Amino acid sequence: MEFAWTADQQAYRAHVRDALDELLPDNWGTHYAPQGYGSADQIAFSREFGPKLAERGLLVRHWPAEWGGESADPWEQFILAEEMKWRGEPRGPQYMNVNWLGPTLMKHGTPEQQQEHLGRIASGNVIWCQGYSEPGAGTDLAALQTRAEPKGNGYVVNGQKIWTSYSPFADFCFLLARTGSGRKDISIFLVPMDTPGIEVKPFPGLVGDGHLNEVFFTDVEVPGSARVGEEGKAWDIITYALSFERVGIPRYHVGRKLLDRAIAQLDREGRGNDPIIKARVGRIVAKFEAARLLTYVVVDQRAKGAPPSVDANVSRITASEACTDLTNFLMEYVPDCLADGDAILREFHRGNIAATIAAGTYELQLNMIARGALDLPRGN
Ligand SMILES: Cc1cc2nc3c(=O)[nH]c(=O)nc-3n(C[C@H](O)[C@H](O)[C@H](O)COP(=O)(O)OP(=O)(O)OC[C@H]3O[C@@H](n4cnc5c(N)ncnc54)[C@H](O)[C@@H]3O)c2cc1C
Repeated sequence: MEFAWTADQQAYRAHVRDALDELLPDNWGTHYAPQGYGSADQIAFSREFGPKLAERGLLVRHWPAEWGGESADPWEQFILAEEMKWRGEPRGPQYMNVNWLGPTLMKHGTPEQQQEHLGRIASGNVIWCQGYSEPGAGTDLAALQTRAEPKGNGYVVNGQKIWTSYSPFADFCFLLARTGSGRKDISIFLVPMDTPGIEVKPFPGLVGDGHLNEVFFTDVEVPGSARVGEEGKAWDIITYALSFERVGIPRYHVGRKLLDRAIAQLDREGRGNDPIIKARVGRIVAKFEAARLLTYVVVDQRAKGAPPSVDANVSRITASEACTDLTNFLMEYVPDCLADGDAILREFHRGNIAATIAAGTYELQLNMIARGALDLPRGN
């Protein structure tokens, strides 16, 4: 693996930065970014911003040409993701569409589903949500109770989801529902959110607007053509999508930049030479660099077409720990850094707490490493 960026990759990063400078409005950092990317304003912004990125070839460049891309390698997509995240993720929830929902449909969707959805995702103005978790099924996702009963050529869905980010404004839901009696007898459905019988109830929480919601499904009629893959065989598809999600948000990149900013402040204040601070900072830098390189291991595997592996969990854990260490350090040594109204820093702080839960908790990732990398037994 070559760790240095090539001249072309550096030029691409500069190109992305220039495009963001040009496309983001002056009030992006003061009006939009502070609201979080699940908020009404940012979703509306995302629907306008996505087509502009698409026009410049910056939305799905890593997709194949048949779906609007240029088959750019996954490295470019990561460079783009790092720069987007550093600017407060102006793509909004569309980061999910281009990074894993679209690719999952390319791999597992029917030609009709691909035709219906990939073009819309590539055009940059469609919002999705993911309906996985339920009140009794989070870490143990296979315990989900939402049921899709066969009816005519389709299904009728009843049940409840929870924590469904972006659902108040989403156009479609990537929905998991039970279709049989076996524990993993679960199917995926692509469901328009305006289908009668769907009700979204937001609730407040630590993370910004739009993230935490309950979604109720009451006699929701879904055509058979909305099912992705074979009936009751969704587990491998979910695993595929989740492995992308786990390395989907480059927090190490933002964290490292925020740390550099804090170090500059400590230096200005004459505290940069404090041995305790130096030791703490040194350890955090080491963890961020480890997180970055472990994420790049996963990107490298992806670039080579390798299947998802436990390395995604290792990378997620390392990034989470680095980010937690950073926010603890900031709170102890540079608390004003967190209180100065910096939207990116605030989102980073809140989002990092959520990131140890969403897409599988910290403990779940450890369990997966124990099983997948160490071959330890599953336990009871
Ligand atoms: C900000 C945010 C956004 C989210 N967005 C979405 C979304 O869009 N769509 C969606 O479907 N879900 C979403 N989630 C839900 C998320 O996937 C779940 O919260 C997560 O899977 C944990 O499930 P739970 O909340 O039911 O906790 P539980 O599974 O009940 O876990 C509670 C605690 O017990 C621990 N635990 C449970 N089982 C084990 C075990 N076997 N071994 C060790 N420890 C264990 C967990 O690690 C955790 O600390 C989101 C969550 C957050 C915080």
